[in-house]
This record gives sequence, structure tokens and C-alpha cells, in this order.
Amino acid sequence: MIGAGVVGLAVAFRLSKSGLRVVVVEKEEGPGMGVTSGQAGVIHVVQLPFGSLKSRLAREGNRMYDGLCRELGVKLDRMPALLVVRGWVKVPALAAAFLYLKLGLRGEFRTRLMRGRGLRALEPLLADGVKAGLVVEGYGTVDVAGLVSRLKAASEENGARFVFGCRVTAASRTPAGVVLHTTRGDVRARSVVNAAGLYSDDVSLSLGRDLGRLDPGLGVMAVYSGLDLSCVVAPLPLGVGKRTKGGAIIPATDGTVIVGPTLRMAASKDDVAHNQDDVDILEGKFAPLLRAAGNLVRVYAGTRPLSPTRDFIIDFDRGARTVNLVGIESPGLTAAPAIAETVERMIREALR
Ligand SMILES: Cc1cc2nc3c(=O)[nH]c(=O)nc-3n(C[C@H](O)[C@H](O)[C@H](O)COP(=O)(O)OP(=O)(O)OC[C@H]3O[C@@H](n4cnc5c(N)ncnc54)[C@H](O)[C@@H]3O)c2cc1C
Repeated sequence: MIGAGVVGLAVAFRLSKSGLRVVVVEKEEGPGMGVTSGQAGVIHVVQLPFGSLKSRLAREGNRMYDGLCRELGVKLDRMPALLVVRGWVKVPALAAAFLYLKLGLRGEFRTRLMRGRGLRALEPLLADGVKAGLVVEGYGTVDVAGLVSRLKAASEENGARFVFGCRVTAASRTPAGVVLHTTRGDVRARSVVNAAGLYSDDVSLSLGRDLGRLDPGLGVMAVYSGLDLSCVVAPLPLGVGKRTKGGAIIPATDGTVIVGPTLRMAASKDDVAHNQDDVDILEGKFAPLLRAAGNLVRVYAGTRPLSPTRDFIIDFDRGARTVNLVGIESPGLTAAPAIAETVERMIREALR
């Protein structure tokens, strides 16, 4: 395994649990320090377009989360998402949005149309200006730090080894498999999974596959205390065809509320710089949805690996016995258990 982000960890856990000998090499000094460290912790339901791989894997991953978190002892809060409109002008468009979601979700996740009063019964913090919306069941928020640490510990209990501070610089193929050349010496493997997040495009090139280049997409989030929110709240319309779902107001598992993320191009893959303009954009978009403001306690940012195909790329090179996970942008946290299941199938086939 190359990379100990949430995706690499989910794969390592799954493979080690199934009895395979797993070594995880990670360039940072600990797990979950890449894209995984700068995210919002939402277990999503709606990812557009519905026909995409990321949309399907997110729905599958979502359904696997209760079992995974129970098994690992990680906090997962389930809640509905309220996709709302302010003012009466957009209300007629809601019926079309409702049908679109209902068809796309195929009854797997319950969706209802509701007026403002019904929505406020579910979420008393909603502002009076919210006139109607859609309720989508099955969302959740997860303790990401807890998930990362438990996935690592459980993988180790299954016999997996982690080597930190170990960057893969090149790779070569041998009849027996692949040799990874790293800053801490060579690692020989019968099979390799590239889960290198923002750098998975470079790593896949080293493994002999050109799967396109990743763009770094910066997302800023603001964290508030003093808001007793119990549902995910997002304004409609959702970003159909855009590179973001548009962000939301999110009750985190630690009792704070996360607002965001935004999306703009980052200066580089390491760029997580943010400023007051980002907070102003977030407050301008989301504050009118709530009747209370809360206290801003923290602002943070993460950088997404925006995929050249606008979808997850799961590339199985049967001959080389490698799997490249490239462009695992949002909702990669949600999809992680389903990605792990897919990878396990591929690795089993490669090793047959
Ligand atoms: C702002 C933002 C908000 C998000 N919110 C959500 C959300 O609410 N819900 C959701 O489902 N998803 C969300 N996501 C998406 C989610 O965070 C990612 O899809 C997921 O974290 C990707 O995990 P990963 O393991 O693929 O990547 P990473 O976490 O980046 O892990 C890859 C690892 O590989 C290591 N690595 C890289 N190159 C090398 C190398 N050459 N050698 C060794 N190691 C290497 C890195 O150091 C890193 O630790 C969000 C993303 C962002 C940026």
C-alpha cells in the first residue's frame, strides 16, 4: 500500500483482515496527514451525477459505515440532510429536484418534499426565510481522527506493518512483482495499491500508467461553537456538473458545526492558505439559512485531488498486479469502505 490516508487505511484494513500480508508506506510521519486531514467528515448520500463511479461508491460506502464504525468503535452520528430554498421564487423548481433525486437514489435513501414549518420541526435552527426543501435520509458525520487511528490500529492487529517517513520515489517491475524504491530503501511486493491522494498521478506514472494529471482544488471550512444543530443543511440548487457539491452546514461529532467547504484552485498541491475573504464567502452563503450565528472558533482548509475525468479512477493493471486509485476527491471518505471492497476483489484476482 502506498499512502496512509483514509482510503489507503480502509484498503489496508480490509486486505489485512482477509489474511493478506500488508505493508503500508507513507511519506509523512503518521497516518491521515494528507487530504484526509482537511475535510468535513460528512458521510454523503447525494453525489451528482448519479451515473458516476464516485456516486455509486459513495452510496455503497455509506451503507457500510454503520458496521465499520461499530466494529472499530468509532463515533458516527446519523442524521438527515435538509436541502433547502429561501424565498418563494425557487419553490416551483423543488418538485423537479425531488423527482430527480428520487429517481437517482432509486428508493435506497428516503427523500421527502417539505414546507418550511415541517423543516423547522426537524431543525429548529432553520431561519424563517427558508420556505421549503427536500429531506434526504441517510447522511451522517464521522469522527475522522478516530476512524484514521482505529483503522491503523486494527490493521496492525491483523498483522499489517506501517512504515512512516517513507516516500516512494520510483518503481520497477520484476517477474515476482514490483519493487518500490523509497527514501528508506526498497520494498518488494507481489502486488501494489497506489492510494497516494494528491500525488497518486505521479505515483501511477512511476508504476507505468499515465492516468492524467490532478488539479489541486482548495476548500476552506469555518468551525463554529454554540450552535445546537442536528441536521446537515445545504442550499439548493446543488452543483450539477460543477466540481463541488457546494458545501453545507454540518454538525460535527465533537459538537461543533462546520460550514463549507468552498472551492477554488490552489496555487500548488501543498497550498492550504486561506484568508478573511474565504470566511466572508462562507458566511454570505450559509448564515442566512440559520436563525443563530454561533461563535467562530477555527478556520481550516484542505486540498482535493480534482480528477481529470471528474470521477474516481480505479485502474487495475492486471499484468503488473497494481491498482491505482487516482482522483479520489470528495466524497472519498464516504466511498472509502466500498473502494476497499473493490480493491480487494482486484488484488485477489491479481494474486490468483
Ligand atoms: C475541503 C475538503 C472537504 C472534504 N469533505 C469530505 C466530506 O465531507 N466527505 C467525504 O466523503 N469526503 C470529503 N472530502 C474528500 C476526502 O477527504 C478525500 O477523498 C479522502 O480524504 C482521500 O483520502 P486518500 O487516502 O485518497 O488521500 P490522502 O489522505 O491524501 O492520503 C494519501 C497519502 O499518501 C501519501 N503519499 C503521497 N505520495 C506518497 C509517496 N510518493 N510515497 C508515500 N506516501 C505518499 C500522503 O502523504 C497521504 O498521507 C473532502 C476533501 C476536501 C479537500
